[in-house]
Amino acid sequence: MSDFTTTIGLEVHCQLLTQAKMFCRCSTDYIGKEPNTLVCPVCLGLPGSLPVLNQKVVELALRAALALHCQILPQTLFHRKNYFYPDLPKGYQISQYNLPIGIDGFLEFYSQGVRKKARIRRIHIEEDAGKLVHEGAFLPPGTSGVDCNRCGIPLVEIVTEPDLSSPEEARDCLMMLRNIVCYLEVSDGNMEEGSLRCDANISLSSSSLTGVKVEVKNMNSFRSVYRALSYEVERQRKLLEEGKPVFQETRHWDEIKGVTVSARGKEEAEDYRYFPDPDLLPFSLKTEMIEEIKSGLLELPLEKEERFMTQYELSQGEAEILVQDREIADFFEDTLRNFNKPRMVCNWIVTEVFRNLKELGTTISRAKITPSHLAELLKMVDRKEISGTMAKSVLEEMFTSGARAREIVTRRGMALINDEKELENIVKEVIEKNPQSVADYLSGKEKALQFLIGQVMKETRGQADPELTRNILIKVLSSEE
Ligand SMILES: [Zn+2]
Repeated sequence: MSDFTTTIGLEVHCQLLTQAKMFCRCSTDYIGKEPNTLVCPVCLGLPGSLPVLNQKVVELALRAALALHCQILPQTLFHRKNYFYPDLPKGYQISQYNLPIGIDGFLEFYSQGVRKKARIRRIHIEEDAGKLVHEGAFLPPGTSGVDCNRCGIPLVEIVTEPDLSSPEEARDCLMMLRNIVCYLEVSDGNMEEGSLRCDANISLSSSSLTGVKVEVKNMNSFRSVYRALSYEVERQRKLLEEGKPVFQETRHWDEIKGVTVSARGKEEAEDYRYFPDPDLLPFSLKTEMIEEIKSGLLELPLEKEERFMTQYELSQGEAEILVQDREIADFFEDTLRNFNKPRMVCNWIVTEVFRNLKELGTTISRAKITPSHLAELLKMVDRKEISGTMAKSVLEEMFTSGARAREIVTRRGMALINDEKELENIVKEVIEKNPQSVADYLSGKEKALQFLIGQVMKETRGQADPELTRNILIKVLSSEE
């Protein structure tokens, strides 16, 4: 059996967050809208209509290009990419060809704890095509239709060099790319709704064999990127080991069957007969504009992740979870302003805060809890005014009612029992009621102690200080011997 090297490159289409389409004033807000209601002669490409470039598109694309460390070409232009497909009434897509907005950049990310780098070959601007609809609220059963609402929506296509060497790396690279475009508000990065679409080129090679590139399409989540590429590695490996050829082709990922299926031969650039769009003049990007956008770039996810690791002594894994969502990262740091225990805050956010958000189906910015309110709750835990278990239930109420921790604790009469005398009395009662467990403990069964602590908790409705309870129990039990 020979050793194969896996080589993967990504092509990511990313919908830009503009209000209007790329060359007309039609709205980009097409999700759930009646088909063909957000169209005009320009985005339908009717004869005689003229495209006018939306400046916001250039600004957002530049932001992404600069964040990916790309070289910005001083002059660029739009080409027509010609092909026929029913969802493309114009018969061509306006795209960029030999002069994209950015080239030769790179992207850094962590994969399985190791810092990796993927070079960015190019980033270019292009408009989206329409969509074939085969079912849904707006169609009689058994019919298909074309919806042009998406025609002319601005995208950037980001192409990496084939620098990724496993499905994990490809997924982690894509996750970082998504983080970056979301941080910069270049795109909402929503993969399910198609604002972020990923295709991949994958080949297997060995010392005696040059790889043949297969393009995999139709992967709609990070998980499907990972699954599709893992499937493809195995499929190609099997073919090569059996001495069979791998064909250069495009394959579609079938999420339900968990396989890739051959779709068609891969097109080459010459198939598209690119030529400069005669309706759009070449345009240059002024240095001042580039500088202004550059200086406006926020701290990017990887920088933030590494700052969290050094400044707050978090592990790479902890920092990574926090920075995956800029709002969560901000929430974390805002909480620290009032309660400066980074690891404790991090633990509460990634477990309890995330759980509540998930249960309520909301995001941190829409939730009723604020960083200072969380800080107040954690301070009470830290000062042992309430136990961790109590705090979890208080937090739940904070999420649903928006009330402050102190208010809830007072109203529910929840103060932690940390009066030694009072606890000792309860402990003695519990010991009396559970002679078997006491005997078990005294004969060396550690588990029995846990049971007795549980009984004290039950007696006090979770209000006993757990550490103190444990100590008192051990003390009282040792006097029983
Ligand atoms: Zn339009």
